[in-house]
Amino acid sequence: MIFTNFREIDGAGRIVISKDIRNHLNIKAGDVLHIEADNDCITIKKAEQKCTFCNSSENLKCLMGKYVCSKCIDELNK
Ligand SMILES: [Zn+2]
Repeated sequence: MIFTNFREIDGAGRIVISKDIRNHLNIKAGDVLHIEADNDCITIKKAEQKCTFCNSSENLKCLMGKYVCSKCIDELNK
């Protein structure tokens, strides 16, 4: 299924991702999106939600745009 929308950018550079696309991709408030641009195209992808260090997908927190699991956070704090 392909979703296509036309959206206006507001004065702060924000766009709204429509509810049907958010529901389709299970995007919730607080999720991190990866935005990539080349010459004339912008691609927005749901960021892979795995720990940057161990690839775990459990107990993740987003730190500075990177996911880190609670176990690795404990290791980093030692
Ligand atoms: Zn980890």
